[in-house]
Amino acid sequence: MDKQNKKLIGIDLGGTTTKFAIMTSQGEIQQRWSIQTDVLNDGNNIIPNIIESINHHLDLYQMQPQQFAGIGIGTPGSVNYQQGTVSSAFNLNWNRPMALKQQIETGTNIPVQIENDANVAALGERWQGAGDNAANVAFVTLGTGVGGGIIVNGQIVHGVGGSAGEIGHMTINPNGYQCTCGKRGCLETVASATGVVRVARDYAQEYAGNSQLKASLDNGDDITSKDVFDLAKQNDSLALKVIDTVSDQLGLALSNVAVTLNPKYIIIGGGVSNAGEFLLTHVQDKYNQYVFAAVKDTTSLRLATLGNEAGVIGAASLILDN
Ligand SMILES: [Zn+2]
Repeated sequence: MDKQNKKLIGIDLGGTTTKFAIMTSQGEIQQRWSIQTDVLNDGNNIIPNIIESINHHLDLYQMQPQQFAGIGIGTPGSVNYQQGTVSSAFNLNWNRPMALKQQIETGTNIPVQIENDANVAALGERWQGAGDNAANVAFVTLGTGVGGGIIVNGQIVHGVGGSAGEIGHMTINPNGYQCTCGKRGCLETVASATGVVRVARDYAQEYAGNSQLKASLDNGDDITSKDVFDLAKQNDSLALKVIDTVSDQLGLALSNVAVTLNPKYIIIGGGVSNAGEFLLTHVQDKYNQYVFAAVKDTTSLRLATLGNEAGVIGAASLILDN
């Protein structure tokens, strides 16, 4: 069987669930399933559970390892690409190097490629999502944190230490909020889901105008970034001020990404991007103010289209590149 007709397995390994997909090399998902990620026992159950789940499903579908070109896995933490190991994946309880690639190859008899989860989501959006399979794409994901992935000439850029594309830790305000990485004023401190709420709480303290957001915060209500966006869409004055700041910092960061790489698209994904065209319009407006003119004409901002599926699709695509 030639490689064209072989199938791919994509795995999106997350702290609560592990998602699987069997795909064709043309990008069609044929089977999908998921299991809970068991992080107990120092995360030692995770790899055996993945192997068991793959072998069980291949039995179920009456498929053989030889029918697959490979398994691609997106994982949290730091990936050692030479050794095929993962470390510092704290949400998996993997604080020591785990031999993810080698153990899954041995357990399934299928070749494995591994990659950082933000990079895998970037590959997925580029291949089957908003990226139109363009050769040069940057991806920023606005979730609990802010992640990024950079694709140049069709390849993920890792950098010498694997930290290329960590857009979330770009300093956008030297006097800004404290970040979990130890620095101050990282993009993540304002443009993540937690960041949006942080800005709202901060601004609410000083705000004197009439605002439902202010009233909710003063009332001690739990609010989410979605609440802030929903109120902004209804013209709540404080919520609009918060979104203006978030969009400003994001537009500034993305203008710097654009002038550094001049990609065809900068794709905005993650939970916060569910605010949709409302977010995109605000960010585009700020981006246009900051970006170098020649770059503005050639690099476009777009919303991600794959949602949660970007991970498994991008993971499977690792096999096509190798
Ligand atoms: Zn940081």
